[in-house]
Amino acid sequence: MITTNPYDDDKLREECGIFGVSGAEGAAALVALGLHALQHRGQEAAGITSFDGRDFHSHRGIGHVARVFREEAVMHQLTGRAAIGHVRYSTTGGAGIRNVQPLFAELASGGFAVAHNGNISNAMRVRGELNRRGSIFQSTSDTEVIIHLVATSTYRTLLDRFIDALKQVEGAYSLICLTAEGMIACRDPRGIRPLVMGRLGEAYIFASETVALDIVGATYLRSVAPGELIEVSDQGLKSHHPFAAEKPKPCVFEHIYFSRPDSVIDGHSVYNVRKRIGAELAIESPVDADYVVPVPDSGVPAALGFAQQSGTPFELGIIRSHYVGRTFIQPSDHVRHLGVKLKHNANSALIKGKSIVLVDDSIVRGTTSMKIVQMMREAGAREVHMRIASPPTRHSCFYGVDTPERAKLLAAHMNVAEMNAYIRSDSLAFVSIEGLYRAIGESGRDAAEPQHCDACFTGDYPTGLTDQEDLEKRHELELQEEPVG
Ligand code: SF4
Repeated sequence: MITTNPYDDDKLREECGIFGVSGAEGAAALVALGLHALQHRGQEAAGITSFDGRDFHSHRGIGHVARVFREEAVMHQLTGRAAIGHVRYSTTGGAGIRNVQPLFAELASGGFAVAHNGNISNAMRVRGELNRRGSIFQSTSDTEVIIHLVATSTYRTLLDRFIDALKQVEGAYSLICLTAEGMIACRDPRGIRPLVMGRLGEAYIFASETVALDIVGATYLRSVAPGELIEVSDQGLKSHHPFAAEKPKPCVFEHIYFSRPDSVIDGHSVYNVRKRIGAELAIESPVDADYVVPVPDSGVPAALGFAQQSGTPFELGIIRSHYVGRTFIQPSDHVRHLGVKLKHNANSALIKGKSIVLVDDSIVRGTTSMKIVQMMREAGAREVHMRIASPPTRHSCFYGVDTPERAKLLAAHMNVAEMNAYIRSDSLAFVSIEGLYRAIGESGRDAAEPQHCDACFTGDYPTGLTDQEDLEKRHELELQEEPVG
């Protein structure tokens, strides 16, 4: 597998970022800028589709935004006052140019381009039904089922056909679509994945995160509401609420790790929330230590919060190189083993003989934590206490986040004491789920109706998981059919 960041396979990875501009000269150039700001949400491929009032233009490629859109000629061909773009990792559907978004189709009503952040959790089931009815798929992406459902819907207007399509899918979707009539942005009824709206002069902008609005100089207007569908056309902006009202369940992991710290989610600064998670950790699981040391970069705000709450000095005991893992390399096992050191190195002069609290955002497989603890010990740390700014990750995500299968999640088969022994730290503690909710500004988690999707910690999935259930049933049948003896 080709990867852009081989040393980050011990993190959950957001699959996609999306960005759209309606009503601005050089819309595609603004989209390219917006995608730069969303690069952390997907680094394997990028694409932009624009519409110039007559024709659609599209360019998609494998690699970072800067690489895919480095040629002036490419940007010149993406003409028009409306454009949408996408950055992605490859999970559902795998890598390959045919799965790179925006996806585009010529429907009976005209061109239709779509950029999707999330994952349709009944895509395989719907795809099977569409295949039986004669649909021929161009990609293996879950997003393409939406295009086919729009194409085969019997409703009259494109908007109604689109709504009809969305009513047949389950799971998580934030979508920006581009048609000859305008732009449509929408979020699934529970608003699992983020989507915000901004204004730049006369233009409307849609983006996965507010940081992308900042980059193009747009003013933040508001989040697209869960279940809301916003239509932008020559007649202006129209908001629709075509779904039955559901309790919103935005992904709690956006606050912990996925979003950039300079983004704001529903009025909460991501940076401040992360600091508060660190403060909760310091209250719940204090340590008497010489220094608080973040695992860079994602552990930095929580470590600052821990240090400020506990009165323990914050120090950079690990230095991160920003120049590894950004090239296309295929590491051998030997290089992969050295990889952690290439990316993170101990600041030995500081930590020798000291007791340290290491703060990281999460533990997924535990391999990186183990190597970092070992690195601290080799650098002479007297004690290494690990503090994690999320509850134990015990379940896979089916909503557009790349998680290892459940068996590979350390917390799925070990308790905290066993994990502590496995990563060889002197002590290990995770923030509690209640502490996490307090950090996000809630008084606690509403157990009957949680305010967020937190399924990777609790297993409490807010939607049906049809494909997963089909898979498990198939697996059970296979086991039953296995010959005995
Ligand atoms: S399962 Fe976890 S990562 Fe996935 S949407 Fe829910 S909270 Fe976010």
